[in-house]
Amino acid sequence: MAVTELLNFVGGTWRPSRATERLPVLNPATSETLALVPLSVREEVDEAVISARSAFEEWKRTPPGERIQCLFSLKTLLETHAREIATTITEECGKTLAESEGEVRRGIENVEVATGIPSLMMGANLEDIARGIDELFVRQPLGVVASVTPFNFPGMIPLWFLPYAVACGNCFIAKPSERVPLTLRLLFTLIEQAGFPPGVVSLINGGREAVEALIDHPGVGGISFVGSSPVARQVYSRAAFRGKRCQCQGGAKNPVVVLPDADMEMTTRIVADSAFGCAGQRCLAASIAVTVGEARRSFTPRIAEAAASRRLGYGLDEGVEMGPVISARSRQRIESLVASGERDGARVLVDGRGASVPGYPNGFFVRPTVLQDLPGDSDAARTEIFGPVLSLVEADTLDEAIAMVNRSSYGNMACLFTADGAAARKFRYEVQAGNVGINVGVAAPVAYFPFSGWKESFFGDLHGQGSDAVDFYTEKKVVIERWPREWNRAF
Ligand code: NAD
Repeated sequence: MAVTELLNFVGGTWRPSRATERLPVLNPATSETLALVPLSVREEVDEAVISARSAFEEWKRTPPGERIQCLFSLKTLLETHAREIATTITEECGKTLAESEGEVRRGIENVEVATGIPSLMMGANLEDIARGIDELFVRQPLGVVASVTPFNFPGMIPLWFLPYAVACGNCFIAKPSERVPLTLRLLFTLIEQAGFPPGVVSLINGGREAVEALIDHPGVGGISFVGSSPVARQVYSRAAFRGKRCQCQGGAKNPVVVLPDADMEMTTRIVADSAFGCAGQRCLAASIAVTVGEARRSFTPRIAEAAASRRLGYGLDEGVEMGPVISARSRQRIESLVASGERDGARVLVDGRGASVPGYPNGFFVRPTVLQDLPGDSDAARTEIFGPVLSLVEADTLDEAIAMVNRSSYGNMACLFTADGAAARKFRYEVQAGNVGINVGVAAPVAYFPFSGWKESFFGDLHGQGSDAVDFYTEKKVVIERWPREWNRAF
Protein backbone atom coordinates (compact mmCIF):
# COMPACT_ATOMS: atom_id res chain seq x y z
CA MET A 1 0.00 0.00 0.00
CA ALA A 2 1.31 3.47 -0.90
CA VAL A 3 2.45 5.51 2.08
CA THR A 4 0.65 8.84 2.50
CA GLU A 5 2.69 12.00 2.24
CA LEU A 6 1.54 14.56 4.77
CA LEU A 7 0.20 17.95 3.72
CA ASN A 8 0.56 21.38 5.26
CA PHE A 9 -2.52 23.35 6.29
CA VAL A 10 -2.21 26.97 5.20
CA GLY A 11 -4.87 29.60 4.49
CA GLY A 12 -7.58 27.11 5.43
CA THR A 13 -6.58 24.51 2.82
CA TRP A 14 -4.45 21.36 2.79
CA ARG A 15 -1.47 21.82 0.49
CA PRO A 16 1.29 19.48 -0.68
CA SER A 17 4.72 20.61 0.36
CA ARG A 18 7.44 21.63 -2.11
CA ALA A 19 10.04 19.93 0.12
CA THR A 20 12.78 17.95 -1.53
CA GLU A 21 13.41 15.92 1.61
CA ARG A 22 10.92 13.58 3.30
CA LEU A 23 11.27 11.38 6.36
CA PRO A 24 9.38 8.22 7.24
CA VAL A 25 7.14 8.38 10.31
CA LEU A 26 7.52 5.06 12.10
CA ASN A 27 5.39 3.14 14.54
CA PRO A 28 8.06 2.53 17.23
CA ALA A 29 6.46 -0.76 18.32
CA THR A 30 6.56 -2.31 14.85
CA SER A 31 8.90 -0.17 12.68
CA GLU A 32 6.05 0.09 10.19
CA THR A 33 6.13 3.29 8.10
CA LEU A 34 2.93 5.19 8.84
CA ALA A 35 3.47 8.19 6.55
CA LEU A 36 6.08 10.40 4.96
CA VAL A 37 6.62 13.83 6.45
CA PRO A 38 7.97 16.61 4.22
CA LEU A 39 10.63 18.94 5.57
CA SER A 40 9.02 22.16 4.37
CA VAL A 41 11.27 24.85 2.96
CA ARG A 42 11.62 28.49 3.94
CA GLU A 43 9.34 29.77 1.13
CA GLU A 44 6.48 27.64 2.47
CA VAL A 45 6.91 29.16 5.91
CA ASP A 46 6.87 32.62 4.30
CA GLU A 47 3.57 31.79 2.58
CA ALA A 48 2.06 30.58 5.84
CA VAL A 49 3.11 33.77 7.61
CA ILE A 50 1.70 35.98 4.82
CA SER A 51 -1.61 34.13 4.95
CA ALA A 52 -1.71 34.34 8.76
CA ARG A 53 -0.89 38.05 8.73
CA SER A 54 -3.75 38.81 6.38
CA ALA A 55 -6.16 36.78 8.55
CA PHE A 56 -4.92 38.63 11.64
CA GLU A 57 -6.39 42.02 10.68
CA GLU A 58 -9.93 40.69 10.94
CA TRP A 59 -9.31 38.11 13.70
CA LYS A 60 -7.93 40.65 16.19
CA ARG A 61 -11.08 42.78 15.69
CA THR A 62 -13.34 39.79 16.26
CA PRO A 63 -14.72 40.15 19.81
CA PRO A 64 -13.09 37.72 22.26
CA GLY A 65 -16.51 36.31 23.08
CA GLU A 66 -16.90 35.37 19.41
CA ARG A 67 -13.36 34.05 19.08
CA ILE A 68 -13.86 31.56 21.89
CA GLN A 69 -16.90 30.04 20.16
CA CYS A 70 -14.38 28.25 17.90
CA LEU A 71 -12.72 26.86 21.03
CA PHE A 72 -16.02 25.59 22.39
CA SER A 73 -16.55 23.77 19.07
CA LEU A 74 -12.99 22.46 19.16
CA LYS A 75 -13.46 21.20 22.72
CA THR A 76 -16.57 19.23 21.66
CA LEU A 77 -14.77 17.81 18.62
CA LEU A 78 -11.77 16.81 20.75
CA GLU A 79 -14.06 15.04 23.23
CA THR A 80 -15.85 13.21 20.41
CA HIS A 81 -12.59 12.12 18.80
CA ALA A 82 -10.58 11.58 22.02
CA ARG A 83 -10.16 7.84 21.48
CA GLU A 84 -9.06 8.27 17.87
CA ILE A 85 -6.52 10.94 18.86
CA ALA A 86 -5.20 8.74 21.68
CA THR A 87 -4.85 5.79 19.28
CA THR A 88 -2.89 7.95 16.83
CA ILE A 89 -0.59 9.11 19.65
CA THR A 90 0.10 5.51 20.64
CA GLU A 91 0.71 4.46 17.03
CA GLU A 92 3.30 7.12 16.27
CA CYS A 93 4.74 7.82 19.73
CA GLY A 94 4.61 4.41 21.42
CA LYS A 95 3.07 5.20 24.82
CA THR A 96 0.22 3.06 26.14
CA LEU A 97 -3.34 3.88 25.19
CA ALA A 98 -4.13 4.87 28.81
CA GLU A 99 -1.17 7.27 28.77
CA SER A 100 -2.32 8.70 25.43
CA GLU A 101 -5.83 9.17 26.78
CA GLY A 102 -4.39 11.05 29.77
CA GLU A 103 -2.44 13.23 27.36
CA VAL A 104 -5.56 14.08 25.35
CA ARG A 105 -7.39 14.98 28.58
CA ARG A 106 -4.59 17.39 29.58
CA GLY A 107 -4.75 18.99 26.13
CA ILE A 108 -8.52 19.48 26.33
CA GLU A 109 -8.12 21.14 29.75
CA ASN A 110 -6.08 23.88 28.10
CA VAL A 111 -8.81 24.49 25.54
CA GLU A 112 -11.28 24.78 28.41
CA VAL A 113 -9.13 27.28 30.33
CA ALA A 114 -8.57 29.38 27.20
CA THR A 115 -12.34 29.82 26.78
CA GLY A 116 -12.04 32.11 29.82
CA ILE A 117 -10.04 34.63 27.77
CA PRO A 118 -12.72 37.37 27.88
CA SER A 119 -12.03 37.53 31.64
CA LEU A 120 -8.35 36.55 31.59
CA MET A 121 -7.51 39.16 28.97
CA MET A 122 -9.09 42.11 30.75
CA GLY A 123 -6.92 45.12 31.38
CA ALA A 124 -7.11 47.52 34.34
CA ASN A 125 -7.58 51.20 34.96
CA LEU A 126 -7.24 53.84 37.64
CA GLU A 127 -9.03 57.17 37.57
CA ASP A 128 -7.32 60.35 38.76
CA ILE A 129 -3.70 59.25 38.82
CA ALA A 130 -3.40 63.07 38.84
CA ARG A 131 -6.31 65.52 38.84
CA GLY A 132 -8.44 64.83 35.78
CA ILE A 133 -6.00 62.25 34.45
CA ASP A 134 -6.88 58.57 34.11
CA GLU A 135 -4.57 55.71 33.27
CA LEU A 136 -5.44 52.32 31.87
CA PHE A 137 -3.83 49.35 30.26
CA VAL A 138 -5.30 47.13 27.60
CA ARG A 139 -4.00 43.91 26.13
CA GLN A 140 -3.60 43.46 22.40
CA PRO A 141 -2.51 40.36 20.46
CA LEU A 142 1.05 40.11 19.15
CA GLY A 143 0.07 39.17 15.58
CA VAL A 144 1.34 35.88 14.18
CA VAL A 145 2.90 33.45 16.65
CA ALA A 146 4.32 29.95 16.24
CA SER A 147 4.91 26.78 18.22
CA VAL A 148 7.71 24.22 17.80
CA THR A 149 7.05 21.05 19.73
CA PRO A 150 8.77 17.77 20.70
CA PHE A 151 7.95 14.14 19.99
CA ASN A 152 6.86 12.96 23.43
CA PHE A 153 3.47 14.73 23.77
CA PRO A 154 2.30 15.34 20.19
CA GLY A 155 -1.27 16.14 21.24
CA MET A 156 -0.96 17.95 24.55
CA ILE A 157 2.01 20.25 24.04
CA PRO A 158 0.68 22.16 20.99
CA LEU A 159 -2.46 22.71 23.09
CA TRP A 160 -0.40 24.40 25.84
CA PHE A 161 -0.15 27.27 23.38
CA LEU A 162 -2.62 27.22 20.49
CA PRO A 163 -5.90 27.83 22.40
CA TYR A 164 -4.54 30.80 24.38
CA ALA A 165 -2.81 32.34 21.36
CA VAL A 166 -5.89 32.33 19.13
CA ALA A 167 -8.30 33.27 21.91
CA CYS A 168 -6.12 36.34 22.57
CA GLY A 169 -6.57 37.30 18.90
CA ASN A 170 -3.32 36.00 17.40
CA CYS A 171 -2.94 33.82 14.34
CA PHE A 172 -1.03 30.63 15.06
CA ILE A 173 1.38 28.44 13.09
CA ALA A 174 2.14 25.00 14.55
CA LYS A 175 5.28 23.06 13.64
CA PRO A 176 5.05 19.52 15.05
CA SER A 177 7.97 17.19 15.66
CA GLU A 178 8.85 15.52 12.38
CA ARG A 179 8.89 12.21 14.27
CA VAL A 180 5.20 12.40 15.30
CA PRO A 181 3.30 14.64 12.87
CA LEU A 182 0.15 12.48 12.58
CA THR A 183 -1.48 13.58 15.82
CA LEU A 184 -1.38 17.24 14.88
CA ARG A 185 -2.64 16.38 11.41
CA LEU A 186 -5.65 14.76 13.06
CA LEU A 187 -6.14 17.75 15.39
CA PHE A 188 -6.08 20.02 12.36
CA THR A 189 -8.89 18.08 10.68
CA LEU A 190 -10.89 19.01 13.79
CA ILE A 191 -9.60 22.58 13.85
CA GLU A 192 -10.80 22.81 10.24
CA GLN A 193 -14.33 21.94 11.40
CA ALA A 194 -14.27 24.21 14.47
CA GLY A 195 -15.04 27.39 12.52
CA PHE A 196 -11.75 29.32 12.62
CA PRO A 197 -11.52 31.67 9.63
CA PRO A 198 -8.91 30.64 7.00
CA GLY A 199 -5.35 31.60 7.99
CA VAL A 200 -6.02 31.88 11.73
CA VAL A 201 -4.49 28.47 12.45
CA SER A 202 -1.87 26.85 10.18
CA LEU A 203 0.24 23.71 10.20
CA ILE A 204 3.70 23.48 8.71
CA ASN A 205 5.54 20.16 8.74
CA GLY A 206 9.28 20.27 8.85
CA GLY A 207 12.52 20.33 10.77
CA ARG A 208 15.28 22.79 11.47
CA GLU A 209 14.87 24.86 8.28
CA ALA A 210 11.18 25.49 8.98
CA VAL A 211 11.94 26.42 12.60
CA GLU A 212 14.65 28.87 11.64
CA ALA A 213 12.42 30.38 8.96
CA LEU A 214 9.67 30.92 11.56
CA ILE A 215 12.08 32.57 13.98
CA ASP A 216 13.67 34.75 11.31
CA HIS A 217 10.46 35.92 9.65
CA PRO A 218 9.75 39.56 10.59
CA GLY A 219 6.02 38.77 10.49
CA VAL A 220 6.24 36.33 13.41
CA GLY A 221 5.98 38.03 16.79
CA GLY A 222 6.47 35.17 19.24
CA ILE A 223 7.83 31.62 19.43
CA SER A 224 6.80 28.93 21.90
CA PHE A 225 9.30 26.08 21.90
CA VAL A 226 9.41 22.80 23.81
CA GLY A 227 12.23 20.29 23.28
CA SER A 228 15.75 19.43 24.37
CA SER A 229 17.86 22.03 26.19
CA PRO A 230 20.55 22.48 23.51
CA VAL A 231 17.91 23.24 20.88
CA ALA A 232 15.89 25.35 23.35
CA ARG A 233 18.98 27.47 23.94
CA GLN A 234 19.62 27.84 20.18
CA VAL A 235 16.02 28.81 19.48
CA TYR A 236 16.02 31.24 22.41
CA SER A 237 19.26 32.93 21.29
CA ARG A 238 18.16 33.21 17.68
CA ALA A 239 14.76 34.59 18.64
CA ALA A 240 16.25 37.03 21.17
CA PHE A 241 18.69 38.26 18.51
CA ARG A 242 15.69 39.04 16.29
CA GLY A 243 13.96 40.84 19.17
CA LYS A 244 11.23 38.20 19.40
CA ARG A 245 9.21 37.22 22.42
CA CYS A 246 10.19 33.65 23.18
CA GLN A 247 9.45 30.90 25.71
CA CYS A 248 11.66 27.82 25.44
CA GLN A 249 11.06 24.78 27.63
CA GLY A 250 14.02 22.42 27.68
CA GLY A 251 15.13 19.07 29.03
CA ALA A 252 15.42 17.71 32.53
CA LYS A 253 17.07 15.30 34.94
CA ASN A 254 14.51 15.03 37.69
CA PRO A 255 15.33 13.91 41.23
CA VAL A 256 12.92 12.41 43.73
CA VAL A 257 13.94 12.30 47.39
CA VAL A 258 12.63 9.52 49.63
CA LEU A 259 12.70 10.01 53.42
CA PRO A 260 12.60 7.03 55.81
CA ASP A 261 9.11 7.97 57.04
CA ALA A 262 7.56 7.81 53.56
CA ASP A 263 4.80 5.30 52.87
CA MET A 264 7.05 2.92 50.92
CA GLU A 265 4.29 1.02 49.09
CA MET A 266 2.76 4.21 47.77
CA THR A 267 6.15 5.83 47.11
CA THR A 268 7.41 2.86 45.12
CA ARG A 269 4.29 2.74 42.98
CA ILE A 270 4.41 6.48 42.28
CA VAL A 271 8.17 6.63 41.62
CA ALA A 272 7.97 3.60 39.30
CA ASP A 273 5.14 5.27 37.36
CA SER A 274 7.15 8.46 37.16
CA ALA A 275 10.41 6.80 36.05
CA PHE A 276 8.99 4.16 33.69
CA GLY A 277 5.66 5.66 32.59
CA CYS A 278 5.76 6.81 28.95
CA ALA A 279 8.96 4.70 28.81
CA GLY A 280 10.73 7.46 30.74
CA GLN A 281 10.23 9.87 27.84
CA ARG A 282 8.70 12.69 29.87
CA CYS A 283 10.30 15.96 30.84
CA LEU A 284 8.81 15.28 34.29
CA ALA A 285 10.04 11.69 34.60
CA ALA A 286 11.91 10.77 37.76
CA SER A 287 15.45 10.00 36.75
CA ILE A 288 17.35 9.94 40.07
CA ALA A 289 15.96 8.66 43.37
CA VAL A 290 17.84 9.94 46.42
CA THR A 291 17.13 7.81 49.48
CA VAL A 292 17.85 9.46 52.81
CA GLY A 293 19.35 7.25 55.55
CA GLU A 294 17.28 4.15 56.31
CA ALA A 295 14.97 4.71 53.32
CA ARG A 296 17.46 2.89 51.11
CA ARG A 297 16.86 -0.46 52.78
CA SER A 298 13.14 -0.56 52.17
CA PHE A 299 12.93 1.42 48.93
CA THR A 300 15.66 -0.34 46.91
CA PRO A 301 14.23 -3.90 46.76
CA ARG A 302 10.72 -2.57 46.17
CA ILE A 303 11.67 -0.33 43.24
CA ALA A 304 13.81 -3.11 41.74
CA GLU A 305 10.81 -5.44 41.90
CA ALA A 306 8.51 -2.79 40.39
CA ALA A 307 10.99 -2.25 37.53
CA ALA A 308 11.49 -5.93 36.82
CA SER A 309 7.77 -6.72 36.78
CA ARG A 310 6.52 -3.92 34.52
CA ARG A 311 4.70 -5.33 31.50
CA LEU A 312 6.30 -4.15 28.27
CA GLY A 313 4.59 -4.28 24.89
CA TYR A 314 2.64 -2.54 22.16
CA GLY A 315 0.68 0.32 23.70
CA LEU A 316 -2.56 -0.67 21.94
CA ASP A 317 -2.51 -4.18 23.45
CA GLU A 318 -4.48 -4.98 26.60
CA GLY A 319 -2.60 -4.95 29.91
CA VAL A 320 0.56 -3.31 28.60
CA GLU A 321 2.16 -0.92 31.13
CA MET A 322 5.03 0.44 29.07
CA GLY A 323 5.61 0.92 25.35
CA PRO A 324 8.76 1.26 23.25
CA VAL A 325 11.05 4.29 23.05
CA ILE A 326 10.72 6.52 20.01
CA SER A 327 13.46 5.18 17.71
CA ALA A 328 16.25 2.67 17.23
CA ARG A 329 18.67 5.56 17.69
CA SER A 330 17.10 6.51 20.99
CA ARG A 331 17.27 2.90 22.21
CA GLN A 332 20.93 2.73 21.25
CA ARG A 333 21.65 6.02 23.06
CA ILE A 334 19.85 4.90 26.23
CA GLU A 335 21.67 1.56 26.29
CA SER A 336 25.02 3.19 25.76
CA LEU A 337 24.39 5.65 28.63
CA VAL A 338 23.58 2.67 30.87
CA ALA A 339 26.84 1.02 29.76
CA SER A 340 28.79 4.20 30.48
CA GLY A 341 27.20 4.41 33.95
CA GLU A 342 28.28 0.83 34.57
CA ARG A 343 31.82 1.61 33.43
CA ASP A 344 31.86 4.59 35.77
CA GLY A 345 31.08 2.37 38.76
CA ALA A 346 27.30 1.94 38.93
CA ARG A 347 25.80 -1.46 39.66
CA VAL A 348 23.05 -2.44 37.21
CA LEU A 349 20.43 -3.68 39.65
CA VAL A 350 17.79 -4.24 36.96
CA ASP A 351 19.08 -4.44 33.40
CA GLY A 352 16.61 -3.49 30.68
CA ARG A 353 19.02 -3.66 27.77
CA GLY A 354 18.48 -6.05 24.87
CA ALA A 355 14.72 -6.27 25.47
CA SER A 356 12.52 -8.26 23.14
CA VAL A 357 8.74 -8.43 23.06
CA PRO A 358 7.02 -11.49 21.58
CA GLY A 359 5.13 -10.56 18.43
CA TYR A 360 7.02 -7.29 17.98
CA PRO A 361 10.53 -8.23 16.89
CA ASN A 362 11.13 -4.86 15.21
CA GLY A 363 10.00 -2.61 18.08
CA PHE A 364 12.36 -0.20 19.84
CA PHE A 365 11.95 -1.66 23.31
CA VAL A 366 14.02 -1.01 26.41
CA ARG A 367 12.92 -2.56 29.72
CA PRO A 368 12.95 -0.59 32.97
CA THR A 369 16.49 -0.28 34.26
CA VAL A 370 17.74 0.55 37.76
CA LEU A 371 21.28 1.72 38.44
CA GLN A 372 22.69 1.80 41.94
CA ASP A 373 25.43 4.07 43.27
CA LEU A 374 25.93 5.97 40.04
CA PRO A 375 28.77 8.49 40.65
CA GLY A 376 27.35 12.03 40.64
CA ASP A 377 29.98 13.31 38.20
CA SER A 378 29.47 10.53 35.62
CA ASP A 379 27.94 11.20 32.18
CA ALA A 380 24.92 9.05 32.95
CA ALA A 381 24.25 11.04 36.14
CA ARG A 382 24.41 14.42 34.42
CA THR A 383 22.85 13.66 31.02
CA GLU A 384 19.13 13.51 30.37
CA ILE A 385 18.71 9.84 29.40
CA PHE A 386 15.06 10.15 28.27
CA GLY A 387 14.37 6.46 28.68
CA PRO A 388 13.14 4.11 31.43
CA VAL A 389 16.26 4.36 33.58
CA LEU A 390 16.25 5.24 37.28
CA SER A 391 19.47 5.82 39.21
CA LEU A 392 19.54 5.29 42.98
CA VAL A 393 21.82 7.42 45.11
CA GLU A 394 22.08 7.95 48.85
CA ALA A 395 22.21 10.88 51.24
CA ASP A 396 22.58 10.92 55.04
CA THR A 397 20.31 13.89 55.64
CA LEU A 398 17.59 15.92 53.95
CA ASP A 399 20.03 18.86 53.74
CA GLU A 400 22.48 16.70 51.84
CA ALA A 401 19.71 15.46 49.52
CA ILE A 402 18.57 19.02 48.79
CA ALA A 403 22.18 20.03 48.06
CA MET A 404 22.40 17.12 45.56
CA VAL A 405 19.15 18.22 43.90
CA ASN A 406 20.35 21.80 43.66
CA ARG A 407 23.70 20.83 42.09
CA SER A 408 21.88 19.77 38.90
CA SER A 409 22.16 22.05 35.91
CA TYR A 410 18.48 21.35 35.21
CA GLY A 411 15.53 22.53 37.30
CA ASN A 412 12.37 21.12 35.78
CA MET A 413 11.00 19.06 38.67
CA ALA A 414 11.92 17.82 42.14
CA CYS A 415 9.75 15.64 44.39
CA LEU A 416 9.83 14.58 48.01
CA PHE A 417 8.19 11.56 49.63
CA THR A 418 7.54 11.96 53.34
CA ALA A 419 4.86 12.09 56.04
CA ASP A 420 6.61 15.02 57.75
CA GLY A 421 5.10 18.46 57.12
CA ALA A 422 8.18 20.37 58.27
CA ALA A 423 10.42 18.38 55.92
CA ALA A 424 7.97 18.99 53.08
CA ARG A 425 7.93 22.72 53.77
CA LYS A 426 11.73 22.90 53.91
CA PHE A 427 12.00 20.98 50.63
CA ARG A 428 9.55 23.08 48.70
CA TYR A 429 11.12 26.25 50.06
CA GLU A 430 14.76 25.38 49.33
CA VAL A 431 14.68 23.26 46.23
CA GLN A 432 15.72 24.86 42.93
CA ALA A 433 13.15 23.50 40.52
CA GLY A 434 10.14 24.93 38.76
CA ASN A 435 7.64 22.12 39.37
CA VAL A 436 7.72 20.59 42.85
CA GLY A 437 5.90 17.50 44.08
CA ILE A 438 5.24 16.35 47.64
CA ASN A 439 4.17 12.70 47.57
CA VAL A 440 3.58 13.24 43.85
CA GLY A 441 5.83 11.71 41.18
CA VAL A 442 4.94 13.74 38.08
CA ALA A 443 4.37 17.31 39.23
CA ALA A 444 2.61 18.45 36.04
CA PRO A 445 0.72 21.70 36.67
CA VAL A 446 -2.91 21.67 35.56
CA ALA A 447 -3.92 24.16 32.91
CA TYR A 448 -4.88 26.93 35.38
CA PHE A 449 -1.26 27.09 36.59
CA PRO A 450 1.86 27.97 34.63
CA PHE A 451 4.03 25.04 33.54
CA SER A 452 7.25 26.17 35.17
CA GLY A 453 10.91 25.19 34.77
CA TRP A 454 14.20 26.66 36.04
CA LYS A 455 17.85 26.74 35.03
CA GLU A 456 18.67 24.77 31.83
CA SER A 457 15.09 23.53 31.73
CA PHE A 458 13.66 26.88 30.69
CA PHE A 459 14.74 29.95 28.74
CA GLY A 460 12.44 32.95 28.79
CA ASP A 461 10.23 34.83 31.23
CA LEU A 462 6.66 33.75 30.71
CA HIS A 463 5.55 30.15 30.85
CA GLY A 464 2.84 28.23 28.98
CA GLN A 465 -0.70 27.62 30.29
CA GLY A 466 -3.09 29.80 32.27
CA SER A 467 -2.61 33.51 32.87
CA ASP A 468 1.13 33.38 32.01
CA ALA A 469 0.05 32.32 28.52
CA VAL A 470 -2.19 35.37 28.29
CA ASP A 471 0.76 37.57 29.28
CA PHE A 472 2.93 35.86 26.68
CA TYR A 473 0.45 36.21 23.83
CA THR A 474 -0.51 39.83 24.42
CA GLU A 475 1.21 43.19 24.39
CA LYS A 476 0.26 45.58 27.15
CA LYS A 477 -0.63 49.05 26.00
CA VAL A 478 -0.76 51.73 28.70
CA VAL A 479 -2.88 54.79 27.98
CA ILE A 480 -2.87 58.05 29.96
CA GLU A 481 -5.78 60.42 29.31
CA ARG A 482 -6.28 64.03 30.44
CA TRP A 483 -9.85 65.32 30.57
CA PRO A 484 -9.84 68.80 32.20
CA ARG A 485 -12.98 69.53 34.21
CA GLU A 486 -13.49 72.90 32.51
CA TRP A 487 -14.12 71.04 29.25
CA ASN A 488 -17.31 69.62 30.72
CA ARG A 489 -20.26 71.09 28.93
CA ALA A 490 -23.88 70.77 29.79
CA PHE A 491 -25.64 68.82 27.05
P1 NAD B 1 14.24 18.15 20.09
O1 NAD B 1 14.92 19.29 20.75
O2 NAD B 1 15.05 17.20 19.30
O3 NAD B 1 13.11 18.70 19.06
C1 NAD B 1 12.11 19.60 19.46
C2 NAD B 1 11.64 20.40 18.25
O4 NAD B 1 12.73 21.19 17.77
C3 NAD B 1 11.18 19.55 17.08
O5 NAD B 1 10.01 20.14 16.54
C4 NAD B 1 12.33 19.61 16.09
O6 NAD B 1 11.91 19.56 14.75
C5 NAD B 1 12.96 20.96 16.38
N1 NAD B 1 14.41 20.99 16.19
C6 NAD B 1 15.28 19.97 16.40
N2 NAD B 1 16.54 20.38 16.18
C7 NAD B 1 16.46 21.70 15.85
C8 NAD B 1 17.44 22.70 15.52
N3 NAD B 1 18.75 22.41 15.50
N4 NAD B 1 17.01 23.94 15.24
C9 NAD B 1 15.70 24.23 15.27
N5 NAD B 1 14.73 23.33 15.57
C10 NAD B 1 15.11 22.08 15.85
O7 NAD B 1 13.39 17.40 21.23
P2 NAD B 1 12.65 15.99 21.16
O8 NAD B 1 13.67 14.90 21.13
O9 NAD B 1 11.61 16.01 20.11
O10 NAD B 1 11.89 15.99 22.57
C11 NAD B 1 12.47 15.53 23.75
C12 NAD B 1 13.02 16.66 24.58
O11 NAD B 1 11.99 17.60 24.88
C13 NAD B 1 13.56 16.20 25.92
O12 NAD B 1 14.75 16.87 26.18
C14 NAD B 1 12.47 16.61 26.90
O13 NAD B 1 12.91 16.79 28.23
C15 NAD B 1 12.01 17.88 26.28
N6 NAD B 1 10.67 18.24 26.74
C16 NAD B 1 10.56 19.26 27.62
C17 NAD B 1 9.32 19.60 28.13
C18 NAD B 1 9.17 20.72 29.12
O14 NAD B 1 8.05 21.10 29.40
N7 NAD B 1 10.24 21.27 29.65
C19 NAD B 1 8.19 18.90 27.72
C20 NAD B 1 8.35 17.85 26.82
C21 NAD B 1 9.60 17.53 26.33
